Amino acid sequence: ARVGVVRETAAGERRVALVPKIIPALVKQGVEVVVEAGAGQGALIPDTAYTEAGATIGDAWSADVVVKVAPPTDAEVAKLAAGRTLIGFLAPRNADNQIDALKKQQVQAFAVEAIPRISRAQVMDALSSQANVAGYKAVLLAASESTRFFPMLTTAAGTVKPATVLVLGVGVAGLQALATAKRLGGRTTGYDVRPEVADQVRSVGAQWLDLGIDAAGEGGYARELSDEEKAKQQQALEDAIKGFDVVITTALVPGRPAPRLVTAAAVAGMKPGSVIVDLAGETGGNCELTEPGETVVKHDVTISSPLNLPATMPEHASELYSKNISALLELMLADGELKPDFSDQVLADSCVTRDAEPTTKAE
Ligand code: NAD
Repeated sequence: ARVGVVRETAAGERRVALVPKIIPALVKQGVEVVVEAGAGQGALIPDTAYTEAGATIGDAWSADVVVKVAPPTDAEVAKLAAGRTLIGFLAPRNADNQIDALKKQQVQAFAVEAIPRISRAQVMDALSSQANVAGYKAVLLAASESTRFFPMLTTAAGTVKPATVLVLGVGVAGLQALATAKRLGGRTTGYDVRPEVADQVRSVGAQWLDLGIDAAGEGGYARELSDEEKAKQQQALEDAIKGFDVVITTALVPGRPAPRLVTAAAVAGMKPGSVIVDLAGETGGNCELTEPGETVVKHDVTISSPLNLPATMPEHASELYSKNISALLELMLADGELKPDFSDQVLADSCVTRDAEPTTKAE
């Protein structure tokens, strides 16, 4: 089979779906890799690095399998001929996704978001690999926006107390944020609605904030809270947040708007100079005063809501994503040819164009 690595066109998207390092292993399996000229440019990978790794530079869009990072645009969908396969982030739960268009085009599309979270599929879990990047970078942004140090400093000019850091929503991104804030010397606390997270929070040296709400849902995700639980949570967090210098929020519920955890009143109660980094901006934000994609100052608190943080670290984000993509590809290959076995749960779940019914969209 021919695998095509295309150049991303979304604004600010600097990642690439396969890095050269991963190509020899694919070639060994009988795969031919074609790379669109400049595909690695955003990640500072020259075309020559791809040819040296055994790929050719050419028309990647006509390959049997096109691998991508960002969801395809209309123009990109049009470049895919019937019978081709597409693998990438396809935002299956977004109302404006391209899944119907891909079906119409008779493209077999695999959404990395729909890979089940089972241990066998961990190596393919692109949501996790990219969330790790986002969680790490969120802490660095918080540190650079802060008017205070993260670590405790004992100097001739006086002693500085360590920053207190609260992470709301401790999935993959939140756990990495806690670990990163700890490495910087912050005093860390984690909060989530899934009680099983408490041990993971403690394992990275953070305190567990218990508000007595259990909202563990299906597949390792959280469920949406009832109105009563929401009110209770907002009130309890308003009290808790006052004591923190930095709040990083990452709370998501699949297919739903981001839960509102931090009210305007909670922001007003924070010390001047405190920082909130809200990673849930793409689905509306966890903070009431968040402006997705912007950094704003409200009540003397800096609220930053960066979008697509993984794209800001294109080298390692691409390297991790490449491993996810090649593992998924390997699962579909037999003797170098593409033969996805849909009795395999990973392939059945992630192939979003197979079922007769259009994929459920969020309202
Ligand atoms: P996510 O991005 O969907 O959500 C981030 C966090 O927000 C979650 O921990 C969620 O519980 C939390 N949250 C949702 N609503 C909340 C609210 N109202 N208040 C506070 N917190 C709220 O989650 P994720 O990072 O994708 O991870 C989900 C789980 O899946 C994690 O436990 C992770 O360890 C697990 N996981 C398993 C595998 C695997 O076994 N293959 C792979 C990756 C992740």
